[in-house]
Amino acid sequence: MYTRKVGFYVRQNFKSCLCIRLKHSPSSKKPDNYYDPDAVNENPLHRCKRFFKRDLQEIARLFNDPFGQYQDDKIFPKTVDVMIIGGGVIGSSIAYWLQNKCRDGLTIAVVEKDLSVNKTVMTAEEYAKASTVLSCGGIREQFSLIENIKLSKFSAEFLRDIKDYLSIPGQHPPEINFNPSGYLFLATKNGADTMLENHEVQKESGANVELLSQDLLKKRFPWLNVDDIELGSLGKLNSGWFDPWSLLNALRKKAISLGTYYIEAEVLDFGFKIDTSISAEEDPNKEYEGINSIKVKLADGKIQQLTFGICIIAAGAESGNIAQMAKVGTGKGFLATPLPVEPRKRFVYYCHAPKGPALSPMVIDPSGVYFRPDSFDNHYLCGKSPKDSEEPDSSNLDVDHDFFEKEIWPHLAHRVPAFEEIKVKSSWAGYYDYNWYDQNAIVGPHPSYFNLFFATGFSGHGIQQAPAIGRAMMEMITESGYNSIDLTRLGFSRLIAEQPLYEKNIV
Ligand SMILES: Cc1cc2nc3c(=O)[nH]c(=O)nc-3n(C[C@H](O)[C@H](O)[C@H](O)COP(=O)(O)OP(=O)(O)OC[C@H]3O[C@@H](n4cnc5c(N)ncnc54)[C@H](O)[C@@H]3O)c2cc1C
Repeated sequence: MYTRKVGFYVRQNFKSCLCIRLKHSPSSKKPDNYYDPDAVNENPLHRCKRFFKRDLQEIARLFNDPFGQYQDDKIFPKTVDVMIIGGGVIGSSIAYWLQNKCRDGLTIAVVEKDLSVNKTVMTAEEYAKASTVLSCGGIREQFSLIENIKLSKFSAEFLRDIKDYLSIPGQHPPEINFNPSGYLFLATKNGADTMLENHEVQKESGANVELLSQDLLKKRFPWLNVDDIELGSLGKLNSGWFDPWSLLNALRKKAISLGTYYIEAEVLDFGFKIDTSISAEEDPNKEYEGINSIKVKLADGKIQQLTFGICIIAAGAESGNIAQMAKVGTGKGFLATPLPVEPRKRFVYYCHAPKGPALSPMVIDPSGVYFRPDSFDNHYLCGKSPKDSEEPDSSNLDVDHDFFEKEIWPHLAHRVPAFEEIKVKSSWAGYYDYNWYDQNAIVGPHPSYFNLFFATGFSGHGIQQAPAIGRAMMEMITESGYNSIDLTRLGFSRLIAEQPLYEKNIV
């Protein structure tokens, strides 16, 4: 635990993180629109000049780019208040929530290595390996942990009201094709007790779920073979799927329209700085070595240093590697514990079955195989997470076609007789941002650095949690802690305390 020599705990009051940064800006040169709460004695004429300049810039921008569509990728600040590493759905959601709350009061940059020149209209070449755009876009409230249930519940509400949240004046409102057709988990006799336990937690947390006996399943879904099924859990209003690409696009566009910078660059390293104004509680003579910058490689190959007040690692499957650049996992004390997030390859198969059900929820078979309709013309998406001992090589995104034949097709054909004729039409692979410690998100501050935060390790349920995670990070950074959903248990501290937090309903 580190304290400021000025006498207050850094870690106990996260609002103070922001105040500390504002007082101890890493750069003496502040942006023109920099809001300095300490500058009460500033000459009023200087203050007017400072704000006037910003307004004139804004008017000029309105003339050149009335819809706020374009961002000059060459112009970005070298010093920002909040630096977000990773511009996928998680990083973009955090940027949106923070910028929406603080407006001009915070300079926020998202560093993303996989962008194209035009920052607002996403192209197929962008985000080529990002989990976000390779995901199936499923959302459900059927989890075993209250935190996960509440995160998805809020996210579903956000998706329903997305036009209120993310519309930009003068532009078409965002459309993410939210399809609440439901989520159906099936349990054999072995899994029925766990399903019942989870159901209790879900109901207590306000989830919209219903338990279905074998008879009810037969009546509701006559195309399903439930001979070996004891119980089903059907997620209703807040469960289904949506288009992940469109959600990312909408969050990013909105964040940009509010003032967030997206910088096309790859993070290569962190910059460290001894801060003599902070001392360790247990040993006041121990020096505090903090992080205050990143070294990045820009799109044109130039190496640049970018300085920040607060840094958030939201780099998906790469988060473990990025954290290591900040000595997380290679240092001493709390820094000896690594961020347990790594890429794990998952295959998705796009199939056609002429006699398959036209309307179906996302179905999760007891074998772990999942499927859902991808349109109403008998096309389906399906997949399965492999056993730990059979994890595929994650050095490339090649698809294993035998995996479908051996591990998926037999279960599909057993569960839905009409799927005996199912044929794969195309397929892809993507990376889960897999938390090998307990397969749950790692969200919140690092205990050693007062200005380093994580939002990663979602292990297959990150898309659906993104809107709520963005709000939670905004609260953590600007409101002294979580106010809407308490995510303390999902913090990095559980790794140090060796208290894994297992989620029983991982797909
Ligand atoms: C096949 C598949 C199916 C899935 N299905 C679902 C589902 O149904 N429901 C669900 O909720 N979730 C699902 N997920 C999980 C979900 O997609 C992820 O949890 C979520 O997208 C994570 O978002 P992210 O922004 O953290 O990561 P990403 O989308 O991967 O974004 C991280 C970004 O960081 C950037 N980056 C990495 N390293 C650097 C660097 N050094 N410098 C700069 N930028 C960097 C990357 O380019 C990337 O764009 C699925 C995932 C896969 C692979």
